[in-house]
Amino acid sequence: MAMKLSTRKRPERSDKMLKESQLKFSERVFDDNTIKTLKYLMNNEIFRSLDYPIQHGKEAAVYRGTAIHDGKEEFVAVKIFKLEGPSFQKKLQYLEGDKRFDRPRGKRHMVKIFAKKEFANLKICQEAGVRAPRPIKHRDNVVVMEFLGEKGVPSGLLKNHEMKSPKKILGEVLEDMKKMHGAKLVHVDLSEFNIIMHKEMPYIIDVGQAVLLHHPQSEEFLRRDLLNVLKFFEKNGARMDFDEALKYIRGENVN
Ligand code: ADP
Ligand code: MN
Repeated sequence: MAMKLSTRKRPERSDKMLKESQLKFSERVFDDNTIKTLKYLMNNEIFRSLDYPIQHGKEAAVYRGTAIHDGKEEFVAVKIFKLEGPSFQKKLQYLEGDKRFDRPRGKRHMVKIFAKKEFANLKICQEAGVRAPRPIKHRDNVVVMEFLGEKGVPSGLLKNHEMKSPKKILGEVLEDMKKMHGAKLVHVDLSEFNIIMHKEMPYIIDVGQAVLLHHPQSEEFLRRDLLNVLKFFEKNGARMDFDEALKYIRGENVN
């Protein structure tokens, strides 16, 4: 039976399908404008090569890139924002009242604004001492940032991390939420899916949608972020009272 199976034509067909899906994927990420942007970044020696995709989601594809820094090879993370993803309206809400950015004139413009916003928010995080990737360069729909990984291998998400001391890690996440809050920033999409465990420490990523405190829903977003975080840690053996944690983040007195 096994012999018979191996003579079937099926593998060829699945091969073809795989090729087609790969083509579709690369076409979606690497449209002409994105290629021009990547060429610009390479000509300016921000990186020399794109090595492989770390992850490609609906909204963005993240690649590992290699740069030469002081004569030494160094890896970078290259996040390419795609034209697809959540609706224009949904994204628009995260720009409400934010004077840092223009009003989007269309889908392409919106994607560029979100890349710019991620870069600006990463800078705020860096200045506030939040553990997050160091921003390196932004242009059009591409953000280049510090690569979180060891020996070229990207570090994994908190979601897949086996925590030896969940209590300690929860404390570090809350500390970073407090620092972000102190810098007037709320993540909006914080969970175990947007925290990377790097060298045993949590790093906050994916800050493109993060809003400033004066956003009309910042309070609601902060509570949702905190709830996600506390729920995840509770499942993993570290419990903390919601109101107490909220007070801590806001820098209010905790008795
Ligand atoms: P999105 O969720 O919008 O697709 P993210 O910013 O969350 O984009 O990045 C997607 C994935 O890429 C992450 O889950 C993580 O695995 C990986 N990643 C993102 N930034 C880095 C980085 N600086 N270093 C290493 N891996 C990264
Ligand atoms: Mn993400």
